[in-house]
Amino acid sequence: MWPYYPDLLERPVPRYTSYPTAAEFTEAVGSSVQSAALDAVTSHTDISLYVHIPYCQEICWYCGCNTGAANRSGRIASYLDALEDEIHVVARHLGGRGRVGRIAFGGGSPNAIAPLAFVRLLDRIVTELDAAGAEISIELDPRSLDEAWYDVLRDTRVTRASLGVQTFTPHIQQAIGRIQPLAMIEQAVGRLRDAGVESLNFDLMYGLPHQHLADLGTTLAEAIRLAPERIALFGYAHLPSLIARQQRIDGQALPDGHKRFEQAAHGFKILTAAGYRAIGFDHFARPSDPLAIAGAQGRLHRNFQGFTDDPAGVLIGLGASAISQFPGAIIQNEKMAGRYRMLVAAHQLAGRRGVERHEEDHWRGKIIEQLLCQGEARMSEDRLSRVRHDLEPFVEKGLVRCGPTFVRLLPAGLPYARAVASCFDHYRAFSKGHFSHAV
Ligand code: SF4
Repeated sequence: MWPYYPDLLERPVPRYTSYPTAAEFTEAVGSSVQSAALDAVTSHTDISLYVHIPYCQEICWYCGCNTGAANRSGRIASYLDALEDEIHVVARHLGGRGRVGRIAFGGGSPNAIAPLAFVRLLDRIVTELDAAGAEISIELDPRSLDEAWYDVLRDTRVTRASLGVQTFTPHIQQAIGRIQPLAMIEQAVGRLRDAGVESLNFDLMYGLPHQHLADLGTTLAEAIRLAPERIALFGYAHLPSLIARQQRIDGQALPDGHKRFEQAAHGFKILTAAGYRAIGFDHFARPSDPLAIAGAQGRLHRNFQGFTDDPAGVLIGLGASAISQFPGAIIQNEKMAGRYRMLVAAHQLAGRRGVERHEEDHWRGKIIEQLLCQGEARMSEDRLSRVRHDLEPFVEKGLVRCGPTFVRLLPAGLPYARAVASCFDHYRAFSKGHFSHAV
């Protein structure tokens, strides 16, 4: 279906959930820039919140997230106290300005905390940041969902949930350290629907140890039967030298680059044939889902949660390692939970590292976003002339078309989107980062 050119996929590239990417963060941009950015928020600024819960009941071997085991209740309680401190500090800076339209809980697994602790945290956010009526979404680990959680999700009017599923194949679940029978997911889907969750996402994976096309096909068939509104089909990135927990995964059992490519293509074919609309090459949504509608109408964006229809100009990240995006800067909170707690307990903002966005970053970021979200970017002849040479290999192979003022991904070029977008990334020429392969 898609032609395979390994040389064009060889170079690891960012996922471009922001531009500049996190590889460009430095400690020169921290809490003082964050403070100025919050001060610049007006009463008309649309704000989205991201709340990071860096704990999980069980740690999966493949996971690259900033998360730890939820095995000490005292540690979680003091983290939640710190989150409340940070909410208070941010609210003081905002002084009632800004309109919070969305609240996303992610991690880790937000359901690693007690359901009542979630209620209290949400109440604090709604009260201090004037967020009544905001749309609430949450990432959930189906292995630690219980009756109390379903009740709380209903009572707090959570309307969107994302379930970590990865694969339904038992022997692959064993190979990645995440055991969750199909019946468990089926039950979670039914109970979440009953609790009023209108939109479900499944995170699935290809490129897993011992995974073959048939395994992926079976997992996708089960996923389609359970009918989530969205499916994200991520390629597993094996980086055991950077992510110690991945050392438990047998690197010899991983599919090679060509097999990964075939798996990505297989997934695309199955999901689009089942009626899902493709968002990029590895995200899928039912045509009636707001993400698919935004894609069709050219309103998709990228933020740290991936593709989004969220138009808010300001994303405020709360919690250790959470990232905030402002028009002029991107800032990450202190990563270490202990130091994060100390900062916010002292009534300080927790921003530690980041990057300011200058005029060139804005136009380059816009082009990268347009390529990934719409498959086409328009620009001046001068800007295009700076990257024509880098785009040539993609043009020669029929993956990209270049006009005088536009770059368009052709259908065969879809899986090369990140590699094509990286041609516009000014920093990739001289800055090193640890990225994954584009497929
Ligand atoms: S539940 Fe999710 S966040 Fe937690 S370890 Fe597993 S993959 Fe990572």
